[in-house]
Amino acid sequence: MSASGKCLCGSVSYSAEDVDPHVHACHCSMCRGWTGGPMLAASVGSIEFKGEDKLKRYQSSEWAERGFCSDCGTSLFYHMKEPGMYIMATGTFDDPEQFAMSGEIYIDEKPSGYNFAGDHPRMTGAEFMASIGVEPPPA
Ligand SMILES: [Zn+2]
Ligand SMILES: [Zn+2]
Repeated sequence: MSASGKCLCGSVSYSAEDVDPHVHACHCSMCRGWTGGPMLAASVGSIEFKGEDKLKRYQSSEWAERGFCSDCGTSLFYHMKEPGMYIMATGTFDDPEQFAMSGEIYIDEKPSGYNFAGDHPRMTGAEFMASIGVEPPPA
């Protein structure tokens, strides 16, 4: 499906194609720090942005950056540079009703004070990395 979205103030907007309606919640400490809570996200096949002069990209690791609006601060996306995949914060889509929770990742980093309901898969960070074929870094 295709979907459009924008930041809180509207300075940055986007239209995406091949949008995956399956939402994953990420509980990792980086997503928590960046969004202020668990990140609810869905991947898209391709995306075009408007207002790119207001779109800031924070290099959060060697392989990924996180995009946000420099006016209102909305957390918009996680961008894996190789293979160039955008994973959008689902709260920024114009029609969030199209999405449904289908999994949680980094469940081992989730604070114990809250839980999402539902009978979906819950993976630890190591299980998630293995599922996408990434070797865990040496301890
Ligand atoms: Zn904004
Ligand atoms: Zn995360």
